[in-house]
Amino acid sequence: MINLLDFDQAALRALFAERGEKPFRAKQTLRWIHRHLVDRVDAMTDLARPTRDVLARDAEIRAPAVVRDSTAKDGARKWLLDVGGANAIEAVYIPEDDRGTLCISSQAGCALDCAFCSTGKQGFNRNLTVAEIIGQLWHANRTLLASGISAPWIERGRHPITNVVMMGMGEPLANFDNVVAAMRIMLDDEAYGLSRRRVTLSTSGLVPAIDRLRDACPVALAVSLHAPNDALRDTLVPINRKYPLNELLAACLRYVEAAPRDFVTFEYVMLDHVNDAPEQARALVALVRDVPCKFNLIPFNPFPNTEFRTSSRTRIVAFQKILQDAGFVATIRKTRGEDIDAACGQLAGQVQDKTRRRIVKIEPAAAH
Ligand code: SAH
Ligand code: SF4
Repeated sequence: MINLLDFDQAALRALFAERGEKPFRAKQTLRWIHRHLVDRVDAMTDLARPTRDVLARDAEIRAPAVVRDSTAKDGARKWLLDVGGANAIEAVYIPEDDRGTLCISSQAGCALDCAFCSTGKQGFNRNLTVAEIIGQLWHANRTLLASGISAPWIERGRHPITNVVMMGMGEPLANFDNVVAAMRIMLDDEAYGLSRRRVTLSTSGLVPAIDRLRDACPVALAVSLHAPNDALRDTLVPINRKYPLNELLAACLRYVEAAPRDFVTFEYVMLDHVNDAPEQARALVALVRDVPCKFNLIPFNPFPNTEFRTSSRTRIVAFQKILQDAGFVATIRKTRGEDIDAACGQLAGQVQDKTRRRIVKIEPAAAH
């Protein structure tokens, strides 16, 4: 069986060409699956009967199965999705007045092992397929519509999800081809039709892949900086030892030249007395001087057995003020979905304890 969620428009065209069908069938099919969100080939009523019959024989539309569906007090909603082999991933919906954002996972686990990240602590399991990545968006839109949520843009015929952030589990640029194919479906007018500014990819800093992304699919870029110098960043974000700050910032500059947004968002997790001192804010200002950028300060979200603590509000605000006084836009990310462990860096899913050969759930602790 092939899963039609695995195909972007180019791949569908190739599939139809191979089968002697007209290439425009690709557009029709994409519209049925991603605009009308159907889950059966049979429902594609404007495809000629013989085409449908042939397709239905070996093609399906299948997103990862939902293991758990939880809604937080603030309206954030998290789906735990089974991707087989005792792996689960998470997608989080964050409603706001003017948008609906979905935070999407790109890998089961992550190999990069950042010191403050619960996903990193699980280790790497595998890359998600295109169907598993785009399936998160397909599923969220379908489920939210079925729940009857309302928003002005939904009344105008748009999907509930208006913005996507690749900030769930995994390093998206380490699963480059599948992530790019999935993002192409997000941007495709026959599918979700999101503008490049409404799709944000967050990376810990895989320099060569940042350049490839600029050429392949220049969506909005967020870079997890977290430290103002190599000595500290080496310990927090180990990939820095391979791609140090000067190379990373040069790649950011190259990116903004081609990107739809003329700035990069630097994410900075606020770790108490590790990276949150005023002199570190000043060093940060000096470091990024040449890069058009904004800052997003993320209060650290704790999880069990972590050595880190969340910076106090006073220290975060003082840090923010130094960035703002230097002329930068610097926001403090609001923690959403705390009561369902849906905040940044808390996505852990369900992992197999390889030594004991049973399923364990890593339970993130309640945030401070
Ligand atoms: N792998 C990518 C994207 C996923 S993580 C990346 O690292 O950028 C999305 C953001 O959450 C990143 O900025 C990451 O550094 C941050 N993050 C990870 N663990 C966190 C935690 N425990 N608390 C707050 N933010 C965290
Ligand atoms: Fe991977 Fe990002 Fe977590 Fe680092 S912060 S371990 S790159 S998911």
